[in-house]
Amino acid sequence: MTTLSADLEQLREKTRLLCAGFPDEYWRETDRNRRYPQEFVDTLTEAGLLSALIPTEYGGLGLGLTEASVIMEEINKSGGHSAACHAQMYTMGALLRHGNDAQKKDYLPQIAAGRLRLQAFSITEDKAGSDTTSIETAAVRDGEDFIITGHKSWTSRIDESDLAFVLARTSEKPVGKGTDKTHGLTLFLVDLRQVRAEQPDTLKVVKVRTMFNYATNQIFYQGMRVPASAVIGEVGKGFRYVIDGWNAERILLASEAIGDGYWFTQRGVEYANSREVFGRKIGANQGVQFPITDAYMKVRAADMMRYEAARLFDAGEACGAEANMAKHLASEASWAAANACLDTHGGYGFVDEYDVERKFRETRMFQVAPVNNNMVKSFVATKVLGLPRSY
Ligand SMILES: Cc1cc2nc3c(=O)[nH]c(=O)nc-3n(C[C@H](O)[C@H](O)[C@H](O)COP(=O)(O)OP(=O)(O)OC[C@H]3O[C@@H](n4cnc5c(N)ncnc54)[C@H](O)[C@@H]3O)c2cc1C
Repeated sequence: MTTLSADLEQLREKTRLLCAGFPDEYWRETDRNRRYPQEFVDTLTEAGLLSALIPTEYGGLGLGLTEASVIMEEINKSGGHSAACHAQMYTMGALLRHGNDAQKKDYLPQIAAGRLRLQAFSITEDKAGSDTTSIETAAVRDGEDFIITGHKSWTSRIDESDLAFVLARTSEKPVGKGTDKTHGLTLFLVDLRQVRAEQPDTLKVVKVRTMFNYATNQIFYQGMRVPASAVIGEVGKGFRYVIDGWNAERILLASEAIGDGYWFTQRGVEYANSREVFGRKIGANQGVQFPITDAYMKVRAADMMRYEAARLFDAGEACGAEANMAKHLASEASWAAANACLDTHGGYGFVDEYDVERKFRETRMFQVAPVNNNMVKSFVATKVLGLPRSY
């Protein structure tokens, strides 16, 4: 529920104050130049916020997903864009829950201290698309190493990371009825510093320019050699670890969309309360009021589902349904708010110095990635409601 504890309010306030140092002009400039907001990420890192989920024994804040989600929400609510740093939060689960002691000791304290960045998650491939178990990037055992070869159509922030999770196939996809189609995929935690220093030609990064500022890329793994010690958990079971992290990712992205939704409604209200046409404030017209109000109610409802999903996650309970529903509801709500805000601004909604068009482009992604809303509906239809599978 949205009744917040004092600690959560303090964290919200701390994030808000940090974000206040990065006003609209900052985000406008980084968006215009498609520049990674390094200064912003550094500020968050120094304040320890990006290590929110790392246990205190490793130097992190030892907080839960509820707290992490509030940080993400506040960034977007301030007019910023969490995409620059959200992966450090949602990828953490794979290392925390499935990494071995040596991996945790090697990496977590350094990530918590801001000396290492874990911002990249390399999964999606062109041919497989949403059907992740059909990926083809291969990791072949060679003595003490694995050699990774393949193409990823999307991997964000790899140039801004020292470590990357890479999902690759270590055995053929099982076929036939009753087989576990998720088997045969292995998750690697790749130390990119070693790759860049010793075998740079095995990692080719091709930048992809998108409709908003997102440091995303195509990646060609060209015989990249990684030690067997980079395997997370057990060989062949990587897809399970990835699914585990998906719930965290959906909850965090829902929070970002909710932050956007509040930003849009606030800006819409401010503009509607100040702009006068036909001798009165445009906000006095119900044709202007109602879309903003509708959107606000949708954002509030999604916000409650987000807290419920995060509560279940933090309690270690099953939360797949709630995490998916939160992501769906939040992305639809922020999109409704974005449209209402744009319409309220009339022609000025399209002018970059009002920031509405930028946030409009940014928030549109939540309906599509990291999982599109059709997939969420299929999940709820089959897993929650018990309807037959369509694929
Ligand atoms: C900006 C950005 C950054 C990204 N960063 C990363 C990253 O860092 N790492 C990473 O691994 N991936 C990343 N992705 C990829 C993202 O996770 C995928 O785009 C997403 O999973 C969807 O896959 P796809 O684009 O191949 O769509 P497709 O799977 O080709 O789907 C296309 C359309 O078909 C519909 N569709 C497909 N199958 C069905 C079905 N059975 N029922 C109903 N509808 C269906 C979908 O709803 C969708 O609308 C990023 C994407 C974007 C846009």
